[in-house]
Amino acid sequence: MTAPVGFNVESVLKAIQQVVGLSSKENPINLHEPDFSGTQAWAYVRDCLDTGWVSTAGSWVSRFEQELCAFTGAKHAVAVSNGTVALRLALHLAGVRQGDEVLLPPLSFVATANAVAHLGAIPHFVDVEESAFGLCPFALSSRLEAIAERREDFLFNKETGRRIAAVLPVHVFGNPAKVDLLRSVADAWGLPVVEDAAEALASWRAGTHCGLFGLVGTLSFNGNKLITTGGGGALITDDAEIAKCARHLSTTAKQPHPWEFYHDAVGWNDRLPNLNAALGVAQLEDLDRRLQSKRLLAKCYEDALSGLKGVELTKEPTECRSNHWLMSLRFTADDPLIAQAQREELLKSAHSTGILLRPIWSPLHRLPMYETCSAGSLVVAENQALRLLNLPSSPQIMDGWAA
Ligand SMILES: *Cc1c(COP(=O)(O)O)cnc(C)c1O
Repeated sequence: MTAPVGFNVESVLKAIQQVVGLSSKENPINLHEPDFSGTQAWAYVRDCLDTGWVSTAGSWVSRFEQELCAFTGAKHAVAVSNGTVALRLALHLAGVRQGDEVLLPPLSFVATANAVAHLGAIPHFVDVEESAFGLCPFALSSRLEAIAERREDFLFNKETGRRIAAVLPVHVFGNPAKVDLLRSVADAWGLPVVEDAAEALASWRAGTHCGLFGLVGTLSFNGNKLITTGGGGALITDDAEIAKCARHLSTTAKQPHPWEFYHDAVGWNDRLPNLNAALGVAQLEDLDRRLQSKRLLAKCYEDALSGLKGVELTKEPTECRSNHWLMSLRFTADDPLIAQAQREELLKSAHSTGILLRPIWSPLHRLPMYETCSAGSLVVAENQALRLLNLPSSPQIMDGWAA
């Protein structure tokens, strides 16, 4: 292997340090850290404690849901305890049942495939597109052409005999996937689209918020996401029936009654506690400021890294507004193994100075529990998985610049 001319790990590290400021092993800079400074979080949580409304009902839950609707433009939002259960519930509501297959990309956090598996369904991996690493509409279309067969009202995989039940795109690192095209392909085959928008609060494609292109979308408010409720998630949808069922099934499928306990289905206990929702409202009030800081941070990275050989900052997709949740660097060497070696070199030197960079996830089809799943050609995902790395992306990095 010959290294391409010009890549220099020291200059890339220096450029990153220029943006993130001082760090050390004792005072590391993480990828994305929670921040409640300057918010009303204390006051709102205190209200829960003072009134005793701490659990899975209360006014902060409704307020959080209303504000999520106002911000995203969704007609309905249902807050739940995390992004994984949001996805599991959304897939169930889209009709995914035990033994079904769900089409999804292999470049995602493991929770995307886990939510499918939690229902007893089976992931079926389809390749991503190179620019923003989302599920590729062309790959989806050609995979369906190759393996799908309509029998009466349902679609089946000719190779496995299993029903194909849904398409599950992911908006990776907050970059909108090509959901408009994916929706057209899915519609043509009669498949529902469920969007994993866990990383994509405040990301938009052509004026529509991520998560609202298909039947239902899901958000996460885990500690490392753009805003956090400690742990939490939500379903967003324009479909009143889906929202109603989501609410019902996530509250043990209990029929409303002042004293009777009567449940009409196998439900879950998935609702978001009021305590967490109070944090969510406080974080939403800070969202615009956070987005502005992240946009500035992306610009700082762009300036610092432009002109350096062998790396490029990945771009906001055209016609889209990305929340810049995790900014990412691509190693551009032709040979993916050289790109991977250079990435390893940067990871090593950055970690030794307390900058906790991270490579993109191991592709899901390489994990032991998913390696026998059906899959189309995954050449783009395999290649990109070797050359992508995430940069520290907390909005509060910009506070250091103001100081
Ligand atoms: C964070 C995340 C999830 C899961 O959300 P949790 O709240 O951590 O359960 C699902 N999918 C993607 C793509 C995520 O990044």
